Amino acid sequence: VEAAVKAAKDAFPIWSSKSPLERSQILNKLADLIEHDLEAFAQAESKDQGKTITFARTVDIPRAVHNFRFFASSILHHVTECTEMPTMGCVHYTSRAPVGVAGLISPWNLPLYLLTWKIAPAIACGNTVVAKPSEMTSVTAWMMCKLLEKAGVPPGVVNVVFGTGAKAGEALVCHPDVPLISFTGSTLTAQRITEKSAPHCKRLSLELGGKNPAIIFDDADLSQCIPTTVRSSFANQGEICLCTSRIFVQRGIYSEFLKRFVAEAKKWKTGNPSDPTSDVGALISKEHLEKVRTYVKKAQAEGARVLCGEGVDPLALPPGNQKGYFMLPTVIAEVKDESCCMQEEIFGPVTCVVAFDTEEEVIRRANGVKYGLAATVWSGNVGRVHRVAHRLQSGLVWTNCWLVRDLNLPFGGMKASGIGREGAKDSYEFFTEVKTITIKH
Ligand code: NAD
Repeated sequence: VEAAVKAAKDAFPIWSSKSPLERSQILNKLADLIEHDLEAFAQAESKDQGKTITFARTVDIPRAVHNFRFFASSILHHVTECTEMPTMGCVHYTSRAPVGVAGLISPWNLPLYLLTWKIAPAIACGNTVVAKPSEMTSVTAWMMCKLLEKAGVPPGVVNVVFGTGAKAGEALVCHPDVPLISFTGSTLTAQRITEKSAPHCKRLSLELGGKNPAIIFDDADLSQCIPTTVRSSFANQGEICLCTSRIFVQRGIYSEFLKRFVAEAKKWKTGNPSDPTSDVGALISKEHLEKVRTYVKKAQAEGARVLCGEGVDPLALPPGNQKGYFMLPTVIAEVKDESCCMQEEIFGPVTCVVAFDTEEEVIRRANGVKYGLAATVWSGNVGRVHRVAHRLQSGLVWTNCWLVRDLNLPFGGMKASGIGREGAKDSYEFFTEVKTITIKH
């Protein structure tokens, strides 16, 4: 970390003095190179993380490419502010400059996707970076490093440190020459990072966990809602911070919804991640699988009903995958709102379905957790979707869809789901220091 920070510090004067257009061209080149090797990156991401090859091919790596292209473009279009004060004979304007060495720390669930979501805006703005991918999933970060020189990224601009959170991550957080930290990971680690960085008054962006509700009213189009909610619950083995894990269904359609939802969940094929027909791959580790299973057991002990998946249906794995950390999509019903399954982030292929009666009630219950990252609302009533969206304590609300993203707009959570937002304008503001200049004429 010491050597990486020094290299980044030394590279900063030259990189920060390049024009946005020069930096943009290099980012575009890097995007092209990753895209050229998309299949190799996707294979590596799938093998390293356990996710399906299809997900890596269609989501992870294309998004990593897009992250570089998006910020290569958006950096060209920012304008700063200017105001006039004629009575004082003054003009005010703002200027923005890169901050310095940015520390970037990312988790294991979307490895290259989330790492590049930080590297791209940081270097587009003229910062140099020290990035630390998760120790569980470092392979694609390593592969990207090999392309940096070819893309024309000068030495020292992007430094990647491979190591554990406690050692490498903490050294980065505590380093006096790293004035800003962008972190994506668990709320617990974020608390530690906040404590450790406090003596240095660092600028922090924290993208953390979620306990995301889906609210399904009785006028929802179930033919759209059910497959999308199965996907929002189980995509990437449920290991996405935005995954749905509490499904509130209006009582009139509760039985029908449950029946159709469970039937749809059962269609999802769990198995060999390299098989393009698999929908669910392996969980990240043995420990994590055990943790996710424990939640299902706790729910059963509390009297909840497991309708499909873990402990209910047989998991038929191909011979080569029998020792893998696989788990079937699991649907739990009749869970109390106070249950740990309804309060804590499970981060696996487990979702809870409960009934509600009124709009007022469901808003209160949906907001009744410490997290506030993402929510989905399903209804054909346009007034209602706006009303509910406004009242949900959630950084993102999708109505009648899920995971449709415009990278121009802010991404991030409220409450224990994070501090700050990332996106075109938000990342630009985070990764630059603003100054107000007043000129008297
Ligand atoms: P984690 O907090 O355990 O680790 C994340 C990163 O932090 C890793 O690189 C790890 O090595 C590092 N780290 C650990 N301890 C550290 C310390 N003391 N100092 C500095 N760095 C340290 O999280 P995880 O288990 O890798 O990822 C899963 C979590 O990430 C879930 O809670 C999930 O919701 C969250 N997540 C959030 C978003 C979002 O955008 N809001 C996106 C993806 C994942």
